[in-house]
Amino acid sequence: MGPMPDRSIVADVLIFGGGIAGLWTLARLAQGGRTAILLESAALGAGQTIASQGIIHGGVKYALGGSVGDASRAIAAMPDLWRACLEGRGPIDLSRVRVLSESQFLWTGKGLGSRLMGLAASRTLRAGVTTLPPERRPDGFRAAPPSVAVYGVPEPVLEPRSLVEALAAPHERLCLRSEPGAVSFEASAGALRAAEVGVGAERWRIEAGLIAFCAGEGNEALLEQAAAALGAPAPPPPPMQRRPLHMVLARERTEGVLPPMYAHAVGMASGPLATVTSQRDASGRRVWWIGGGLAESGVERGAVEQAKHALEQMASLAPWIDWSVVDWATVRINRAESRTDSGRRPDGPAIEDWAGSVVCWPSKLAFAPVVADAIAERAERVPSAHIRPDIPADAPIAPVARLPWEREDLQWL
Ligand SMILES: Cc1cc2nc3c(=O)[nH]c(=O)nc-3n(C[C@H](O)[C@H](O)[C@H](O)COP(=O)(O)OP(=O)(O)OC[C@H]3O[C@@H](n4cnc5c(N)ncnc54)[C@H](O)[C@@H]3O)c2cc1C
Repeated sequence: MGPMPDRSIVADVLIFGGGIAGLWTLARLAQGGRTAILLESAALGAGQTIASQGIIHGGVKYALGGSVGDASRAIAAMPDLWRACLEGRGPIDLSRVRVLSESQFLWTGKGLGSRLMGLAASRTLRAGVTTLPPERRPDGFRAAPPSVAVYGVPEPVLEPRSLVEALAAPHERLCLRSEPGAVSFEASAGALRAAEVGVGAERWRIEAGLIAFCAGEGNEALLEQAAAALGAPAPPPPPMQRRPLHMVLARERTEGVLPPMYAHAVGMASGPLATVTSQRDASGRRVWWIGGGLAESGVERGAVEQAKHALEQMASLAPWIDWSVVDWATVRINRAESRTDSGRRPDGPAIEDWAGSVVCWPSKLAFAPVVADAIAERAERVPSAHIRPDIPADAPIAPVARLPWEREDLQWL
């Protein structure tokens, strides 16, 4: 630690990061009567959460290859828990979140439907996947030829900004904007006890019974700084991995060209070829936010090449759309997760105890409640300060991040 801090704050839990993991944890701790303070160095949701596609997965995506793995088992209970929250009868009140679609959909090209569903039949049927006859198809497929098979999947799709707002609003004064850059940690007896960080023009020392690292990709630098405070021979911090995506935005030039769409385009690959969610931008134009295989395989492509590839692929997957009046942009973003030996997706959330703190990467929005419960359970084990953090009235409140298509630096190609 440097010279005397400008302010000292005490809380039961100090949370780094205002994405879904940090925000759900804050809400969960408040419920349990624990005091907490959340520091966000950019804007709430600014990492992966606001850029996510908002799908509350129940595992169908993982079963596409036909096998029931740990990933699909672990996640199967999540949609029901979230639905209870969305209906205002769950552990956290999410009744103000905008549900873009109650279900999402799978669609396949000509002749692929029966083969695909045969492969994954038992798992997908258990998850409630249903074949939709033409008259029950959602708007996005009204113009699709009958040879395109469409399936309904009972997994809700949420508007990510409203999700961040709904979680943050009741605790707004506890979500503070911290200065990016170095954080000094203080440790004793091998455990992290306090952090010193810039908040507005001041340096704050925040002492907490438990420090929760929920900063997504930012955990890596924070943990390095924390490890320096622990000194040798401290155990190394839990390692993370980044899995990059090159996401694509398609925006209609004329109203009505792009229908609402919340769906995975599937083929014989083990994951979706493309995953589409949609919203309207500030001027009312519909935007498709496209991920899945297209974003994973596009990492090596430049922006123009990726946009060109996206046009070709989407024109072949959804030929009923007039792609000649659509503009394109691309966005690079990393998924931040606990490191796996294979470098592939972890099966579930990571919640690691380290030096008296807890480090987490949920790996999916859907797992945020699991992460928050685990952190709350650890918080119960440390003595409570029993005092509200003394936060000055003019402390900088963290704003909510912009959606990808609202970013000022976005370039339409
Ligand atoms: C493009 C994309 C689409 C996705 N779609 C889905 C989906 O449809 N369904 C699903 O379940 N999952 C989806 N995911 C995964 C999901 O979004 C993430 O697992 C989840 O949002 C991670 O949340 P988090 O809170 O751990 O991290 P983040 O959302 O990344 O939040 C971390 C926060 O910490 C802040 N921070 C960083 N460093 C510091 C620091 N030093 N001090 C303070 N704050 C700091 C960041 O600014 C950020 O706000 C998607 C991910 C991506 C990238």
